[in-house]
Amino acid sequence: MTASSRRHATTSSDPVSRRYTRQLWMKQIGTQGQHRLEEASVLVVGAGGLGSSILSCLAGAGVGTIGVVDGDVVDVTNLNRQFLYVMADIGQPKALAARDKLVSLNPEIRIEVYPTRLNADIAYDIMSAYNMVVDASDNYETRYLISDACVLFGKPLFIGAVSAFHGMALTVLPRETACFRCLYPKPPSASIARQERARGIIGTTPVIIGSIVAQNVIKYIVHAGDWMAGRLLLMDGEGNRFDTVPLERNPACPVCGDHPTITELVSFRRRSGQTSC
Ligand SMILES: [Zn+2]
Repeated sequence: MTASSRRHATTSSDPVSRRYTRQLWMKQIGTQGQHRLEEASVLVVGAGGLGSSILSCLAGAGVGTIGVVDGDVVDVTNLNRQFLYVMADIGQPKALAARDKLVSLNPEIRIEVYPTRLNADIAYDIMSAYNMVVDASDNYETRYLISDACVLFGKPLFIGAVSAFHGMALTVLPRETACFRCLYPKPPSASIARQERARGIIGTTPVIIGSIVAQNVIKYIVHAGDWMAGRLLLMDGEGNRFDTVPLERNPACPVCGDHPTITELVSFRRRSGQTSC
């Protein structure tokens, strides 16, 4: 669908826009907010459990252009939590299967797919086409790459992370609020990362955290409410507790600090296989 026809699709007098009726009623959105959603472009890195939740929410809300980056294929062990996919998708590239589902949900928006693992060589070419970026990845290498790239390229970044019944969410306004490196100056050891992964995951956790991340993206686009920038949301789903912790930008941060030492993207040292959480 062309940009002009998509614009036409969300005018309040057009019957196609009936899909957005309930959110047009919201004083925080209305016709102006809907146009902002339509004009927005959001890149989502990772189409696993978090990505399933985030992509569905953004597509349903009418975000005009959505990019999906994932180099993985659908496996039967994904289906307990990656609700974009069904049995028939097993063996298919996630990015392509995700596009099919999102187009069937909302054919009025544009979905661009990148069935590859994000790396330093292609990050700029992909990310430069989008207003903002969502980190729904599941590994530290990709998280540092995305965060560094967003600071260097000046893209707002919305981060989600999940493990078992626990999760976190954070929004980064580059050079204004704390980035991922401010929060975690150094990656954990490989053994710690393996232990974290071994805690497992159930579908409810990425649905909740992914919905919070998507909600912050939507609020940012329509200029409503709080975006979780400069505050870290921590969810203990086991104990039904949500906490927020103030987070300061670190002046010594190597990428967003006062004297940065990271001024360009570098390739991963470790290229472990990517799967999505
Ligand atoms: Zn930083």
